[in-house]
Amino acid sequence: MSDNATASTAAPTTDATKKVLRLDNVVKRFGDNVVLDHVSFDISQHEVVALLGPSGSGKSTLMKCVNMLERVNDGQIWLGDTDITDPRVNQDKVRRRIGVVFQQFNLFPHMTVLNNVTLAARKVFKWDRDKAEEKAMGLLKRIGMDQKAREYPDRLSGGQQQRVAICRALMGDPELLLLDEVTSALDPMLVGEVLEMVSELKDQGATILMATHEMSFAHRAADRIVLLRRGKIAENGTPADVMDNATDPETRAFFHSYDS
Ligand code: ADP
Ligand code: MG
Repeated sequence: MSDNATASTAAPTTDATKKVLRLDNVVKRFGDNVVLDHVSFDISQHEVVALLGPSGSGKSTLMKCVNMLERVNDGQIWLGDTDITDPRVNQDKVRRRIGVVFQQFNLFPHMTVLNNVTLAARKVFKWDRDKAEEKAMGLLKRIGMDQKAREYPDRLSGGQQQRVAICRALMGDPELLLLDEVTSALDPMLVGEVLEMVSELKDQGATILMATHEMSFAHRAADRIVLLRRGKIAENGTPADVMDNATDPETRAFFHSYDS
């Protein structure tokens, strides 16, 4: 992935006939607090969707529902052909099809980079050590981190740690990658290298749902912007339509608040 290794290959184009994720009237409440209020949208194969919205608008909750860390109160979520909101669904099988990276605390401090990346593959997928390490080293090499495989996370910068966490999420070749504010805890200097990695994954055809406050990155890298506001989808369209040409005053005010 480093050094323009993929620069000459065209990114796979979005296949609108293949829906990787589909939310259909999803409702999620915490007590009286309706966090997701009949939310519907879908993500096609190879599509990168930026999930935007003010703090507390439900971005993380939505991702947790997709990853089955939270149960929805109503509506359906489909991962490919699987209704993951069906109570009979096998949660472990669903989780194996999704790669997840959060804002912080992604790596175990007492384990080497290599063990962090291989742990889930060995424990959950039951891969043997050789297979897991071969895959992990290949992923680390692509981001120029194979030399750090035997280091502990505290020897790495925050940006390197997040890139390692993304490698771990890629171990099982997930159908969908969920990135929840993966650069929010980083020093501004380290944000770029992580976003660069996300761009490269997009170029390689990954299907990504990412919550972010990096507006210029969302504009550049996302195929589509989904904007959450008070539990509802306020906007769902191209970056140009939603970020540059929105007519809704609240939408315009939201993006203006990020202008410096
Ligand atoms: P965002 O990621 O967009 O900042 P969140 O999904 O974290 O928003 O939170 C949306 C709303 O849901 C907030 O009002 C938050 O307080 C509430 N919330 C999130 N998780 C829980 C929980 N486990 N219990 C109760 N309320 C929660
Ligand atoms: Mg959040």
